[in-house]
Amino acid sequence: SINKDALPPYMLTPVVSVAQVAKKFAEGKLDARIELPGYGEITSLANVLNMAGEKLSHQKELLEQEVLRRTEALKKANERLEKLAITDGLTGLYNHRYFQEMLIAEVQRQRRGGNEFSVIMLDVDHFKQFNDTHGHPAGDEILHTMGDILAHSVRETDMVARYGGEEFVILLRFADHDNALQIAETLRHTIANTRFPDVHGDPRFEITASLGVATWPIHAKRARPLIEKADQALYESKRNGRNQLTSASAKEANEWLG
Ligand code: GH3
Ligand code: MG
Ligand code: MG
Repeated sequence: SINKDALPPYMLTPVVSVAQVAKKFAEGKLDARIELPGYGEITSLANVLNMAGEKLSHQKELLEQEVLRRTEALKKANERLEKLAITDGLTGLYNHRYFQEMLIAEVQRQRRGGNEFSVIMLDVDHFKQFNDTHGHPAGDEILHTMGDILAHSVRETDMVARYGGEEFVILLRFADHDNALQIAETLRHTIANTRFPDVHGDPRFEITASLGVATWPIHAKRARPLIEKADQALYESKRNGRNQLTSASAKEANEWLG
């Protein structure tokens, strides 16, 4: 604070105004300015303070813009990371972990008086042989194309994931068992009728897949057993010669028949 007694009276007002502005700056109010008449020393001081205020305001504005820009960049980076964490790198589909989470969530949701929904498990036939014959990069290309076919064959509300190496899984959120069998059979046909491209993009390879279909709550009431039912049905398709589709019900019927 200013000791007003120490100042000659004619200087009081300008010095007080300068002090007030300086105090405002100290409080972060950078838009404070002083207008003093004349050319005296106090006026010079006031002008310097005004210039400092101008400069500080400008710097603060730049800084705020920078913070905004970086916050936005950080948000984007976080979104990329989140997407990466749930995505399979080779196919761009969802990964195993995220599929499990979504399936558990779906079971939770439907438990309160929900509708039937189904799971299709799909495994590429004789894929080890394919890799051995055409090389691993050509095999990767098959998996990539397979991912595209699956992703384009289902509805927006469905979910396709790479379950493991050459194994895929589809969650059909609004498909009862008959719907799911139809969708799976169409898929099987599409795959068998597609010429899969080689690493140069030339359509060349004939690929087949085996499928298994299980439906909630018919074949299982919880997530893991439901996947297991679909998986067992899939292996029934393998056992019966591949390039085919098995319903979890049929699998159970076959077991019962022995
Ligand atoms: P089946 O008809 O019984 O399914 O026979 P399969 O040869 O497809 O099954 P198997 O489990 O014996 O072999 C799976 C093969 O899938 C072996 C492995 O090299 C290949 N594979 C798994 N992941 C990848 C991948 O990311 N890229 C490539 N190119 N091959 C993969
Ligand atoms: Mg296989
Ligand atoms: Mg397999």
